[in-house]
Amino acid sequence: MDFQLTEEQLMLRDTCRQLAENDLKPKAAEYDRTHEFPWEHVKKLGELGIMGIVYPEEYNGAGMDYVSYAIAVEEISRGCASTGVIVSAHNSLCLSPIYYFGSEDIKKRILSRLTTGEWIGCFGITEPNAGSDAAGTTATAELKNGKWVLNGTKNFITNGGVASVAVVTAVTQKGIGSKGLSFFLIEKGTPGFSVGKVEDKLGICASSTTELVFDNCEIPEGNILGKQGDGFKIAMHTLDGGRVGIAAQALGIAQAALDEALAYAKERKQFGKSISSFQAIQWMLADMATEIEAARLLVYQAANYMNTGDRQRYSKYCAMAKLFASEMSHRVTHKAIQIFGGYGYCREYPVERFYRDARITEIYEGTSEIQRLVIANNLLKD
Ligand SMILES: Cc1cc2nc3c(=O)[nH]c(=O)nc-3n(C[C@H](O)[C@H](O)[C@H](O)COP(=O)(O)OP(=O)(O)OC[C@H]3O[C@@H](n4cnc5c(N)ncnc54)[C@H](O)[C@@H]3O)c2cc1C
Repeated sequence: MDFQLTEEQLMLRDTCRQLAENDLKPKAAEYDRTHEFPWEHVKKLGELGIMGIVYPEEYNGAGMDYVSYAIAVEEISRGCASTGVIVSAHNSLCLSPIYYFGSEDIKKRILSRLTTGEWIGCFGITEPNAGSDAAGTTATAELKNGKWVLNGTKNFITNGGVASVAVVTAVTQKGIGSKGLSFFLIEKGTPGFSVGKVEDKLGICASSTTELVFDNCEIPEGNILGKQGDGFKIAMHTLDGGRVGIAAQALGIAQAALDEALAYAKERKQFGKSISSFQAIQWMLADMATEIEAARLLVYQAANYMNTGDRQRYSKYCAMAKLFASEMSHRVTHKAIQIFGGYGYCREYPVERFYRDARITEIYEGTSEIQRLVIANNLLKD
């Protein structure tokens, strides 16, 4: 097995690391405090090709592989976790179903503007009463006079308040469960489509999380992605791969926490010595570094399986990567606060933000419990 990154991947890592260090990190605390959407970050990432990193050049994408994608999200999240999820939700959740299941016309007209970052995209399956149970969708779409008419509400949608394009599930045939769902694309400005409640969150505060409301919203018949009845399959295909983005986000947050804890431990003195000379602190740092490295291998491996396109394989590894990296990020950011003592609990230092930001990675794109279900289902069918 080759654990070496390619020249191209190393260059991308350096570029993203520099951007995170020089542009994202210095602004991250302010964005966290103001809850303002980091447009300037997104613009720069668009210029670098990150907003369409794995999509082909014919649709203005950067044509890179999934390991590069994981590296980019990890480095970006090391500087600003909110920006990390904006990039991940856009690339993995919105662009992926459009690329794999959209018509050529939609790809040319819409994907090509999303890949450059000119437009931001969002993905909505969650509803107030359909979270982990995505098949419990109640939003509907009816075909009337050559148009789909959408009604219903999606909630907790990342990029919801800023997106020019939303892709969502809706019921097209009642009473047949997940087989009755279809997947649709809606452009901002379509009458009957609006942004509802804006969530006030524990972490990733600079990312936009909102409701999407459909009230007799008419869209062209061709805005269906895939075939009628394919909605649940498309959602699962999207989430299976998308999880590697959140795993990479969790990894980047944990690495940022270790960076800060290491620097602080060397600098802070108690009992006349640097706290890094105490074995208790050294052991925490050693455990943090070891867990981060283990997660990194798992995340890159999952991304590598995604390059093969073998979903049977990558589905399990992406779930494992997300499960382990998100719970690892929780443990690592917890220890980082411990190393900082009382200062770690205060906003003057960034580790309390890392702890808050890490927490969501155990919840969205499937909770840890759902990842365990996916992994167990894969194990039992082998
Ligand atoms: C900040 C944020 C951003 C989000 N972004 C998006 C987005 O862009 N698009 C989108 O569609 N959704 C998004 N979500 C929704 C997110 O994916 C859901 O919150 C998540 O899937 C869990 O659903 P729920 O909140 O309804 O919890 P529930 O499904 O009600 O779960 C509650 C608890 O029960 C457990 N549970 C449920 N079912 C089972 C089971 N079968 N076995 C064991 N335990 C179970 C869960 O693990 C959890 O602990 C976002 C959420 C947040 C908070």
